[in-house]
Amino acid sequence: MSDFQGTKVLLDESEIPTHWYNIQADMKQLPAPPISPATGKPVAPEELARIFPAALLQQEVSTERFIEIPDEVRRIYQLWRPTPLYRARRLEAALQTPAEIWYKYEGVSPAGSHKLNTAIAQAYYNREAGIRHLTTETGAGQWGSALAIACAFVGIHCEVYMVKVSYEQKPYRRILMESYGADVYASPSERTASGRAILAKDPNSTGSLGMAISEAVELAAQRDDTNYALGSVLNHVLLHQTVIGQEAKKQLEKVDRAPDVVIGCVGGGSNFGGLAFPFLQEILNGTRKAKVLAVEPQACPTLTQGVFAYDYADVAGLTPILQMYTLGHDFVPTGIHAGGLRYHGDSPLVSQLYHDGIIDAVAYPQRPVFEAALQFARTEGTLPAPESAHAIRAAIDEALAAKAAGEKRVILFNLSGHGNFDLAAYEEYLRGRLTDAPYSEAEAEKNLQSLPKVGV
Ligand SMILES: *Cc1c(COP(=O)(O)O)cnc(C)c1O
Repeated sequence: MSDFQGTKVLLDESEIPTHWYNIQADMKQLPAPPISPATGKPVAPEELARIFPAALLQQEVSTERFIEIPDEVRRIYQLWRPTPLYRARRLEAALQTPAEIWYKYEGVSPAGSHKLNTAIAQAYYNREAGIRHLTTETGAGQWGSALAIACAFVGIHCEVYMVKVSYEQKPYRRILMESYGADVYASPSERTASGRAILAKDPNSTGSLGMAISEAVELAAQRDDTNYALGSVLNHVLLHQTVIGQEAKKQLEKVDRAPDVVIGCVGGGSNFGGLAFPFLQEILNGTRKAKVLAVEPQACPTLTQGVFAYDYADVAGLTPILQMYTLGHDFVPTGIHAGGLRYHGDSPLVSQLYHDGIIDAVAYPQRPVFEAALQFARTEGTLPAPESAHAIRAAIDEALAAKAAGEKRVILFNLSGHGNFDLAAYEEYLRGRLTDAPYSEAEAEKNLQSLPKVGV
């Protein structure tokens, strides 16, 4: 290791990756094929062509290792990419650890998170295919704001179904989306058959990502000039996020470092996959060794307590059935503040890697996560998104383990976004009103009974 005295490693614009890295080229075991809810057989591309453009459907199943980033997309990336890689020197000092802690900061995008990396690509391919409107769901509002910006850049319209509890608790994200020209509705809404069915059963439903997905997909399937965009979970979304890990690898090489641990928080798996996959390329082909750690909330412990099974990606059962770790598509997590981590399922790629023992996972209750967030804010200055704070918690624990073992480990984590729109959650924590929302095993059992029967 060279004697690096600095605090951050920057790249220049010409070093923005020219290709996305497709991990499907290197996985020995690929995820099982998505199943059509209509036929019970593997999904035919025509079925999905109603809601996705051909270019993205091709990326979904491609096994080509590198896929070229279109010029227009790469030029838009130049607004905020390459993103900085920081060494968390003040946090290291506070922890008195011999470990080095490095973080890739995706909060410098105008959306404030990594989500713009895929939003731009998806909006671009849809416009190229002649689409005029994109529908989508959003939880905490990060994905909705990223897609709203992306649609404004490429000149199409954006319609967002926002989980009702967030719509009510986080008006600023809604205003932000509207400022970028999007129309935003609280989900479940009266605008769709799936929304009306949910409200008929439970008029006070606070919504969930699964419900909002049902609404957005239903509308996209009905209109010819309208498609649907998903902010995580699918293979093409994780593909687009690999600019993060490719840059981080180059940045660490510049200072002669190789990470012993690579950490990301996991909601649907996209920021985690984005950072980890380019490192996993070499782990899979045997030229690199590192622990790769996915971090999730204990109130929504998809990898650590879910089952590996076929399940719907939404509540109404409109989407293809994916093999993944899942808590059951009816699962509605208790009101935890990391809205972006409240999803019942997980990326099939990340699920397969976890199932095959290639990556590790850990779950944390929210109070120790917020404690880590504030320690980070007070030493590094950036107030992290509550989602990203899960990765910080794990990075701190790895640094403390290295201290106990007297080892100089190199820890890398993804700071997927800033928390400037999450001040209400921070206030809850600072006033001592935040509880460690438990995961109910009984509830879990019930939800797992509604998994679709596939292949029987
Ligand atoms: C949406 C979001 C997440 C969770 O989604 P993934 O697809 O798992 O990355 C994490 N961090 C931030 C800042 C987010 O906006």
